[in-house]
Amino acid sequence: MSFGLTEIIQFLNSPSFTLWQIVVLVYIGLLWLSLIIWVTRDAISRSNSLSFQIFAILLTIAIPLLGVILYLIIRPGRTHVERYYEELEKHLFEEKGEDGQTCKKCLTILDKTFIYCPNCLAKLKKTCNKCHQSFPDPWNSCPYCGSIQKEPVKKIKMKVSLKK
Ligand SMILES: [Zn+2]
Ligand SMILES: [Zn+2]
Repeated sequence: MSFGLTEIIQFLNSPSFTLWQIVVLVYIGLLWLSLIIWVTRDAISRSNSLSFQIFAILLTIAIPLLGVILYLIIRPGRTHVERYYEELEKHLFEEKGEDGQTCKKCLTILDKTFIYCPNCLAKLKKTCNKCHQSFPDPWNSCPYCGSIQKEPVKKIKMKVSLKK
C-alpha cells in the first residue's frame, strides 16, 4: 500500500491535518514565549543596560528560536551575582589591610575595630584580661603584655549556647 499524490493532498486538506497544524503552532508559540521570558530574565541578571535588555528581547522576538542562540553568543559572560562573588573573593584575597578585616565564619567584610561580627555574631577578637587591648581571637596570649588568656573554656560554652 503506497500513498499517491492525491492522498497526500487529501490529507493536507482534511480537518485532522488542520488540527495538527494548530497543535504544532501552539506548541511552537509557547516555546517561543517561554524563550522570550527566559531571555528577558537572563538579560536583566547580566546587564544593567536597558538598551541591551531591549535588544536581547527584540532579537528573540524577531528571529524565533534562532534568536536565542544568537543571544547566547553575545550575552555578557557573568551574572550580577557571579560578579558580586568575584568582587568579594578579590577583597578576601587582597586582605583588607589597615581599614578592615574579614569575618572568618560568614566572610563579611568588617571594620578593623569590630570585636563581634554583626552578621553572624562570631567573635572576631578577644580583649586582654590584663591590659584590655584587643587582638585576633585564635591567639591564646596577649601580644601586648604577654599574659595568657583563659578564655577558650568560656568560648566553648558560648558556642553551645548559641547553637541552642
Ligand atoms: Zn560573621
Ligand atoms: Zn594584654
